[in-house]
Amino acid sequence: EQMSEAGGDALEPATRYDAVVVGAGFAGMYMLHRLRGLGLTVRVFETGDGVGGTWYWNRYPGARCDVESMQYSYSFDEELQQEWEWSERYPSQPEILLYANHVADRFDLRRDIRFETRVTRAAYDESANLWRVETDRGDHVSATYLITAVGCLSAARIPDFPGAGSFRGPSHHTGRWPHEGVDFTGRRVAVIGTGSSGIQAIPVIAERAEHVTVFQRTANYSLPAWNRPMDPEYAQWVKANYAELRAGMRTSPAGVMGTSNTASALEATEEERLREFEARWAKGGVSFLGAYGDTAIDPAANEISAEFVRGKIREIVTDPRVAELLAPKDHPIGTKRICIDTGYYATYNRPNVTLVDVRTAPIEEITPTGVRTADAEYAADMIVYATGYDAMTGPLLGIDITGKGGLSLRRKWAAGPRTYLGLMTAGFPNLFTITGPGSPSVLSNMMVSIEQHVEWIADCVERLRAGGIATIDADPAAEDAWVEHVNEVAGHTLYPRADSWYLGANIPGKPRVFMPYVGGVGAYRQKCDQVAADGYAGFVLS
Ligand code: FAD
Repeated sequence: EQMSEAGGDALEPATRYDAVVVGAGFAGMYMLHRLRGLGLTVRVFETGDGVGGTWYWNRYPGARCDVESMQYSYSFDEELQQEWEWSERYPSQPEILLYANHVADRFDLRRDIRFETRVTRAAYDESANLWRVETDRGDHVSATYLITAVGCLSAARIPDFPGAGSFRGPSHHTGRWPHEGVDFTGRRVAVIGTGSSGIQAIPVIAERAEHVTVFQRTANYSLPAWNRPMDPEYAQWVKANYAELRAGMRTSPAGVMGTSNTASALEATEEERLREFEARWAKGGVSFLGAYGDTAIDPAANEISAEFVRGKIREIVTDPRVAELLAPKDHPIGTKRICIDTGYYATYNRPNVTLVDVRTAPIEEITPTGVRTADAEYAADMIVYATGYDAMTGPLLGIDITGKGGLSLRRKWAAGPRTYLGLMTAGFPNLFTITGPGSPSVLSNMMVSIEQHVEWIADCVERLRAGGIATIDADPAAEDAWVEHVNEVAGHTLYPRADSWYLGANIPGKPRVFMPYVGGVGAYRQKCDQVAADGYAGFVLS
């Protein structure tokens, strides 16, 4: 509480900071560390009672990162990356949470974080050039810089099913999982949703529950993780070569190690393709999508990859009717978030698992004792909502943010988010968004994108202060051009062909705008660096 004494009234401390950061996930934690390093006073607010963000909230069984451990970690501190040891190829949620807490201890972050406190309002006070920030705990603080590190997937969403409140058993959203865990023994569990979270949770729940009924609206493509204990020799090799490997990740398309072919799937022979696909399938993880350079842009090339995965599903799942339901046919592969699983498809061969297609017979209501679709009622003792998030804009618009002239962000973004580089939005001076819409964010290894944004913002703040510059704001013309560019690049790909959360399709009434930037992590970083080198071209400094 470094400054509250100065505020006088102990009940309503009027406190002044150089920067307020919203959120204490990996983005907020690193932002705090960097700003402190510049000598700024910082207050972080976090809704949860601990650090870690996504990995604090998502404690559902099977929760795991789809990016390999050696790559899904901070690179900013050499000793940290050399000393920390990951136990598996892909890190589990508990291990990532342990890592987040280790980082908080190591850099003594908690003393500047106020937990169990949600930022409700932030208003730019033009005359004082300050952000005035309010929380649900009655804090009123002000800061020169406001930095949102609220996450892209932190606003959990449960569809508005009639009768949901009448259900007699417990129900849990995967992204708000009880800390004490959930006992499935002897229970009939309804799982609603088959996106990344559902696909991770279903196999584990099925091993413990008496029966699992899975309600699927959209079949998703899932690739095998082939998770295994960390190979110590591999870990050692990575650590010995971290500098070079991390540099490669920063300039890569998606912020991960590995090779993406540029060749066309259409030019390869059937035999070559099979060899390439089988090799990547056997390797596991997202590398499968890098088999050919035209998978994301050419429908015919995409269909070849998609059909290979459908073939795998038909091989694994013994009941042909269930296999056909699980084989995605309504969107190109990779245009909705690709899933990475451990035994997902094989789970449907278990006698205690039932798949219900709610595309043809939608859920009509939740009853006191189960889930009723247009076709039938399914008895359940517990409901697991794996129904995802109001992605990217949800957490930002959850805060009542007003900029210059009382302009509300909710109003400004009513037809979809508008940003310059995904870092700032015109009319909101000194407000930075980490991994905001218009940046690669959710299409990348987010650790890489988070570090890039935090470092860009910290450098910018340092230069503003050194130059005696009071405010930075996006130039509306540069913002218009960026929004157009983001749309144009997305328009050259197959992404807009899927009803995905990337474009808000999972939220009724949300404007259909493709939010992340598909231009690639490396190309995007170069643009941001160039903008800074050119004295913040496209920004207005005053
Ligand atoms: P978060 O971790 O979301 O942290 C944001 C924090 O801000 C939260 O703790 C939230 O409580 C807090 N907050 C929000 N609004 C407010 C407010 N108004 N006031 C106070 N606090 C607030 N990324 C990958 O790269 N690879 C993966 O495989 C991967 N898997 C994922 C699996 C799941 C199930 C989910 C949900 C996400 C996954 N992600 C993955 C994305 C993941 O969110 C990022 O990798 C990363 O953890 C984001 O960190 P962050 O700090 O930006 O946001």
